[in-house]
Amino acid sequence: MDFRYTEEQEAFRKEVHDFLQESLPPDWLGVDAGPEEEARKEVYELALEIWRKLGAKGWIGLTWSKEYGGQEASLWKEIILMQELAYRGAPGMDVAVVHGDMILQFGTEEQKRRLLPPIVCGEAKWSIGMSEPSAGSDTFAVQLRAIEEKDCFVLNGQKIWSSGVQQADRCMVYARTDPDAPKHQGISVFLVDLKSPGITMRPIRQMTGLAPFCEVFYDNVRVPKEDLLGEKNGGRSILLYAFNGERTGGLAFLYNARRYLDQLVQYCKETCLDGRPLAKDPIIRNRVAQMAIEIEVGYNLGDELNWLATQGMPTVKASSQINVHGAAVAQRLANVGMQILGHYGPLNEDSKWVKLGGRIRYSYLSSVGLSIAGGTSEVSRNHIAGGAGLGLPRG
Ligand SMILES: Cc1cc2nc3c(=O)[nH]c(=O)nc-3n(C[C@H](O)[C@H](O)[C@H](O)COP(=O)(O)OP(=O)(O)OC[C@H]3O[C@@H](n4cnc5c(N)ncnc54)[C@H](O)[C@@H]3O)c2cc1C
Repeated sequence: MDFRYTEEQEAFRKEVHDFLQESLPPDWLGVDAGPEEEARKEVYELALEIWRKLGAKGWIGLTWSKEYGGQEASLWKEIILMQELAYRGAPGMDVAVVHGDMILQFGTEEQKRRLLPPIVCGEAKWSIGMSEPSAGSDTFAVQLRAIEEKDCFVLNGQKIWSSGVQQADRCMVYARTDPDAPKHQGISVFLVDLKSPGITMRPIRQMTGLAPFCEVFYDNVRVPKEDLLGEKNGGRSILLYAFNGERTGGLAFLYNARRYLDQLVQYCKETCLDGRPLAKDPIIRNRVAQMAIEIEVGYNLGDELNWLATQGMPTVKASSQINVHGAAVAQRLANVGMQILGHYGPLNEDSKWVKLGGRIRYSYLSSVGLSIAGGTSEVSRNHIAGGAGLGLPRG
């Protein structure tokens, strides 16, 4: 077994590393992957800048066909890019690529030509309109209604927890087109232009203090027929594809965790408590070593997931494992970080006494949501217990 990346892959990793050295502010401590922290104005502005620079380098939609602006590169290149972006905590990692993958998979030729190039340039931002107040884990229970008219579908209903929707151009909305069909059928997917009349948004504040997602109300929103993704009532396979993509988000939690651990280790090396270096404290040594093990295990699970993806093999079990493990590691590490920082831990970035830029405090609060976002850890464990892993019958 050879776990090493090839020379070519390592050369690309170095190229991304150097790009980030040049593009991020010198004192950059990183933000967590995903659109949540883009609710801060300064992070959002940097995210747009990085996203456009990535577009200019041809690094968005790397694996896509050249006719849609991609590079037809190997999936490994995209994986390495994501690893480096997440490890450095660069803002701008965007769900647009995931949506682009879905348009490539399920979209019409016209949709690919119209919607992929703006993603590739780093110009288009997307969000996910899956969850509703009564349809979270049970996404197939969506009630937002889409009624077909001559040249459009008319959407009425509510979505919730749509991350980054307030800054996005489009949202992939899952709607019920046949209320009489069995629950798993009768769902269709729409690529909704968020400037359409009839859409209103109400931000929801998290305990971090940021308001990164919204409730979104659709009131007689007319969506042209060319923005239906896949077949009418054919949303089931698109949903299953999307679930799998969402669970792989656990990889980014692990790459983020390694950054936090490296920062904490450095802090322990540089900091004394009562004249004694934190790095010599046996309890702290024990805890950071334990986190290093858990992160390493996660990286190995991640390599397995990535390898399966590059081989085009099923990834449901591996992505479910990563989803559970990545969130748990992020939460435990944030806890360890708070113990190491002691009384400095709860201070936010405005305090003159703050350590590590208040990042550990932020992670302590935000990591709670990681075992919920993109499908809860309990639901992922269900996949592992059932058909995707241990073969137990449905509970
Ligand atoms: C930070 C964050 C960002 C998010 N971003 C988005 C987004 O961009 N777009 C979007 O559409 N949604 C988003 N969500 C919503 C997220 O997908 C849902 O919160 C999640 O799927 C859970 O749904 P729910 O909140 O309705 O909880 P519920 O489904 O009501 O679950 C409540 C509890 O019951 C457990 N449970 C439910 N069903 C089962 C089961 N079958 N077996 C065992 N336990 C079960 C759950 O694990 C959970 O503990 C986001 C959520 C968070 C926290």
